[in-house]
Amino acid sequence: MRNIIVTGGCGFIGSRLVKLLISKGYNVLNVDKLSYSGSLENVAEISKNPKYQHEIVDICDFEKIKKLYFNFKPDAVFHLAAESHVDNSIHASRVFMDTNVLGTYQLLEATKTYLETSCKDVSSMERESLHRNFRFIHVSTDEVYGDLKKEEAPFTENHPYKPSSPYSSTKAASDLLVMAWQRTYKLPCIITHCSNNYGEFQHSEKLIPVVISHCLNEKPIPIYGKGDNVRDWIYVEDHCNALLLVVQKGLIGETYNIGGNCEIRNIDLVKMICSILDDLKPRLQGKKYEELINFVEDRKGHDFRYAINDHKIKNTLNYQTSMNFEKGLKQTVSWYARKFSS
Ligand code: NAD
Repeated sequence: MRNIIVTGGCGFIGSRLVKLLISKGYNVLNVDKLSYSGSLENVAEISKNPKYQHEIVDICDFEKIKKLYFNFKPDAVFHLAAESHVDNSIHASRVFMDTNVLGTYQLLEATKTYLETSCKDVSSMERESLHRNFRFIHVSTDEVYGDLKKEEAPFTENHPYKPSSPYSSTKAASDLLVMAWQRTYKLPCIITHCSNNYGEFQHSEKLIPVVISHCLNEKPIPIYGKGDNVRDWIYVEDHCNALLLVVQKGLIGETYNIGGNCEIRNIDLVKMICSILDDLKPRLQGKKYEELINFVEDRKGHDFRYAINDHKIKNTLNYQTSMNFEKGLKQTVSWYARKFSS
């Protein structure tokens, strides 16, 4: 496996994955249309690397995507391009349908055309080997499972789909397309469901950057409801390492849940961030950042709790996380504090 396409490689997770793949010696073609959440800054450090290329293309544009496939000749595709913010999906869902559902469809069709055409004039053995060695990794979310009650066991790969938001329902729809294209056209696909990622280079609209920027600007920190909602947090680099394992050792047609084993209530997370900032950038007159916490009307359809059972990927692919949450959070908060102060 040498040539890898990453869609959404200018986003938070995609850019981290692109950097990881380049560091491992792969040739990477980043297909990213640069929507509001994508940024060239995220990939600045590898933009001149001869192993890296970026094409500003919309995944919904089948003809352009097909051309990229035939020119680049990928051995694998990591599909991350998406509209990814739940709040945006509640206010304007159409673009979520376009990118997450139709975009995934176009990408699957391009993959199918590429594999079928490449197989046309070759022997049946070569054809089998091309299909066997190619991988389409669909990067999805634990949100497709809906939410859990306090006492319920974490999501396994067999948990039924019950998405709550326009975001998670479009991701669930894209998962179903991937499953169908795998079964009907024998596309070599694997689906991953990851929990909440944190780390550097995340768009400023997401919870952790929002809390930090509000603290540093002395603005009320908005927290939905009572802040009791629970999320399972994973450091973005750990997620990317898991994706690398999946492309190298994962089985076609399988789904792998990826988690951080780190369930935290939103209110506790926000208090941890406030306390890190109290040390890093103390407020005037001995005030504490926690005093800025402001409970606001809950998000519509807000999922209560997500938690991941990651036994399958641990037991079959030897997956393990390496970042300790407190250390990772401190590193992340320091990075944003520097970014927002410069
Ligand atoms: P992000 O919003 O930071 O990045 C998305 C990227 O996709 C951006 O660079 C954007 O320009 C690009 N993009 C959007 N629409 C496109 C289109 N039509 N054509 C080409 N490029 C397009 O998102 P993220 O947080 O990095 O998430 C990446 C993927 O991982 C998503 O599929 C998301 O569902 C999944 N995921 C995210 C998390 C998380 O905690 N962030 C957790 C689990 C799964």
